[in-house]
Amino acid sequence: MKLTVQVRLVPDAVQASALERTLPAVNDAATWVSTVSFDRFGLKGSVRELRKLCYGELKAQGFGAQAAQHILKRVADAYTTLRANIRGGNLGPPTSQRRRRAESKPIAFRPHAAHTFDDRCLSWNHDAQTVSIWTLDGRIKNLRFACSPGALKQLAEHRKGESDLVFRNGKWFLIATIEVPEPEVFEPRDWVGVDRGIVNLATTSDGHNHQGRRLGRYRRWQARKRAELQAKRTRSAAQLLKKRAKREARHAAHVNHKVSKTVVAVAQRTGRGIALEELQGIRDRVTVSRDQRARLSSWPFHQLGAFIAYKAKRAGVPYLEVNPAYTSQMCPVPWCGHTARNNRPTRDTFRCRRCGFAGPADVVAGINVRDRARSAWVFVNRPDPAPV
Ligand SMILES: [Zn+2]
Repeated sequence: MKLTVQVRLVPDAVQASALERTLPAVNDAATWVSTVSFDRFGLKGSVRELRKLCYGELKAQGFGAQAAQHILKRVADAYTTLRANIRGGNLGPPTSQRRRRAESKPIAFRPHAAHTFDDRCLSWNHDAQTVSIWTLDGRIKNLRFACSPGALKQLAEHRKGESDLVFRNGKWFLIATIEVPEPEVFEPRDWVGVDRGIVNLATTSDGHNHQGRRLGRYRRWQARKRAELQAKRTRSAAQLLKKRAKREARHAAHVNHKVSKTVVAVAQRTGRGIALEELQGIRDRVTVSRDQRARLSSWPFHQLGAFIAYKAKRAGVPYLEVNPAYTSQMCPVPWCGHTARNNRPTRDTFRCRRCGFAGPADVVAGINVRDRARSAWVFVNRPDPAPV
C-alpha cells in the first residue's frame, strides 16, 4: 500500500533562499501555462499540446527539461481533475455559481502551492540525512532533513516515486511516497463494534468512549464565534471565517486521528477485527434537536471511518462495515432482539420494552454492530458447500 512520510528540511541561508525563489517561480510558471491552456483548449489541454506551446518559454525562463515537463504535467493533471469533479457533480449543477466560476477562468496556482519532484530532480541520501534537489539556482546538494528514526527507516527501505515540496508556516517539508507491502489480515478472535455518534464520537462495544464533553464545548464556542463573525458581513470578517473554518477542520482531523489510532491499537492488541456501521444511516436514525443536528452534520464522521479503515489495513486488522439499520433501537440480548423506537426513552439511554435490558444507548449500538460483524464474518468465511 502507498503511504506518505513527511520530513522537515533544514536549509542553511543560501539553500533557503534558493527554495524561496524556486517554489513561487514554479507556481507562477504553472499559472502562466494554465492560462495558455485555458485560452486555447478550455478545460481540455493535454501535456503534448501544452509542450508544443510552452516548453520553449519555460526553458528560456531557466527551468530544466525535467522541471518544465513537471509543470506541464501538473497543469494538465489539474484540468483533468477539474473535469472529473464537474462530471461527478462535485461542483453542483451546470447553473451553480461554483461550477460556472470554475469553468469561466483558468486554474491559478498559489505562490506556495506544493510542487512535485521525481527522482531526477530530487535524490535522497538516507545515511547522511540529506537530499539533493533541483532549484532555479542550480542543484542544491547536502540539504539536511529531520525526521524520526522510524520514518528514516521507512524511507530507506520503501521510498519510491515522487515527493512533494511543501512550504507551511514558514517551514519547508518534503512529503515522500513510500510503497510498503500490505500486511496480511489476521483471523480475528472476535470483533470490536464501533458506534459513531453525537455525544461520543466513537463508542466501542467494550464500553469505551472517545471524546465528548470538552470537544462539544470547543465546537459550541467555535459556532458562537462564527455566528458573531457572520453577523458582521465585512470582508475581514469573511477572511477570519475562512481561517477559522480551516482551523476547525485541522482540529477535527487531529481528533479523528487520535480516536482512530486508539481504536485500531486496542483491536490489534486483543486480536480482534473492527466493525463500523455503513455511514448513510447515521444521519437519519435518530431525531435530534437543531443544535445537535448542526453538530452532527458538521463533524466529519466519514473521515473518522476512513482513518479507522486505513489504519486497520496498515496494521493487518480485519475491517468490516455492517448494515446500520436499527442498531440503536434493537435489544442486544440474544434471545430477545426486540426492536422498537421506544426502546430509547431518552437520547442517551436504552431500555428494552420487552426484557428490561438497559444500558447506555451508544454502547448498545456498538454491541449490535459487533454482533452483526460476527455473523457477517462467519458468512463470508463459510467454506463453499460441497458440489452435489
Ligand atoms: Zn430485550
